[in-house]
Amino acid sequence: MAYDFDLYVIGAGSGGVRAARFAAGFGAKVAVAESRYLGGTCVNVGCVPKKLLVYGAHFAEDFEQASGFGWSLGEANFDWATLIANKDREINRLNGIYRNLLVNSGVTLHEGHARVVDPHQVEINGERFTAKHILIATGGWPQIPEIPGREHAIGSNEAFFLKELPKRVLVVGGGYIAVEFAGIFHGLGAQTTLLYRGDLFLRGFDGSVRTHLKEELTKRGLDLQFNADIERIDKQADGSLKATLKDGRVLEADCVFYATGRRPMLDNLGLENTGVKLDKRGFVEVDDLYQTAESSILAIGDVIGRVQLTPVALAEGMAVARRLFKPEQYRPVDYAMIPTAVFSLPNIGTVGLSEEEAKEKGHKVQIFESRFRPMKLTLTECQEKTLMKLVVDADTDKVLGCHMVGPDAGEIVQGLAIALKAGATKQHFDETIGVHPTAAEEFVTMRTPVAG
Ligand code: FAD
Ligand code: NDP
Repeated sequence: MAYDFDLYVIGAGSGGVRAARFAAGFGAKVAVAESRYLGGTCVNVGCVPKKLLVYGAHFAEDFEQASGFGWSLGEANFDWATLIANKDREINRLNGIYRNLLVNSGVTLHEGHARVVDPHQVEINGERFTAKHILIATGGWPQIPEIPGREHAIGSNEAFFLKELPKRVLVVGGGYIAVEFAGIFHGLGAQTTLLYRGDLFLRGFDGSVRTHLKEELTKRGLDLQFNADIERIDKQADGSLKATLKDGRVLEADCVFYATGRRPMLDNLGLENTGVKLDKRGFVEVDDLYQTAESSILAIGDVIGRVQLTPVALAEGMAVARRLFKPEQYRPVDYAMIPTAVFSLPNIGTVGLSEEEAKEKGHKVQIFESRFRPMKLTLTECQEKTLMKLVVDADTDKVLGCHMVGPDAGEIVQGLAIALKAGATKQHFDETIGVHPTAAEEFVTMRTPVAG
């Protein structure tokens, strides 16, 4: 049968754009549908605007520390509206770049909400198109628990467009987004409280990293409240919000920001017209080739709920394009050793196993840890410490994990990830000459294990 397209991609986010462009580059006839914004979550309400806000928040400490280096500044003033307007301008520019990327690579762009009507057919803006393969790359959406007063809370989508910086913010959650936005709000001058339902935030990260970040954020004056969860939110006569916690305490705020995970975006997608199955958590179930239970339909990125990171969605998109249209270049995505950063202030950078994971997997581990005051701070009052940690297999000498909390941790860990991917041992680290004077050189000068 002749189809309108070889591949119809639903969602022009990180994964969808990558798959569409590569498939078109391999000679396939490709269409991509996008209902909201080109570039998806990452470009519009994720990685990019988030990092711009983190940069904005970082100036607070730069100004404070500058006096140690002889600078005297007048009173620093921050204007939220300027930051948001400049951020919006940059995002508009990126939207245009994504449009050009798609169009120049020969992809047909359909702007509107797409719906699958049968295993080979998509409906958009009242028109129907057939395709040999349909790729679901519709991403995720913030998930806010159904508590009374939920309508008074915001999620990350809204946070990027607030008209003004709230004076008092309650951030709920203990994952990436909660920790990053708590740093943004606090750094920009809002009185910020982070509420997390468990004993310690960032579940799944290395224990030393979690504890170290807790200590550093507390030193900065961020109010961290663990074992705390909101039962209800009420709007008061003056417009402010009253959050009643499960333990009966009441906190007042101007903004309650929920960062309690993301659900797959399947709204009105029409998957019920197909044999596609969802997993227990509600994400689209796929096999190792991103094939759903319906043979003509594939899915990648956040909607499959494996690793919700942009570079992973990109890798999955590329893998799908190659397998379908350039099989001789196909390589499966390797989910081992995915480096990641949390752009908290200070940053976390991490790759490989945490100490806890390594032990659970049965490794006999050697731990190398270093805590130090970065050189830049020695002329300042700031007492912030950087943490670096290596988890090493005591039998094979292989470095299983590298973890860091400190300035530019994400930048540093990217390079280390290549070494770990190549199977580096502790001896390789020891034999590597440091770059002096940097913080990163500490990773190659840790000699004595702290624990076995
Ligand atoms: P998305 O990028 O979400 O794209 C899906 C697209 O599909 C969207 O544009 C959507 O509008 C469209 N769509 C949905 N349904 C339809 C439909 N029916 N018809 C047409 N179009 C549709 N990751 C990192 O690696 N680093 C970071 O620093 C980082 N920061 C983040 C910060 C925040 C606040 C958030 C929310 C996420 C962050 N992420 C980060 C995660 C990253 O944004 C996602 O993992 C990535 O965007 C997933 O890509 P995707 O292609 O699966 O989906
Ligand atoms: P996460 O899954 O990282 O964290 C969700 C947090 O919310 C956890 O602390 C979880 O607690 C808590 N939580 C879940 N449900 C509830 C509830 N009902 N009540 C109270 N607390 C709850 O999700 P995020 O929303 O922070 O981010 C989504 C994903 O986006 C991330 O996992 C990451 O993959 C990606 N991302 C990546 C970034 C980066 O690379 N820098 C930045 C931002 C997002 P518990 O641990 O107890 O389950």
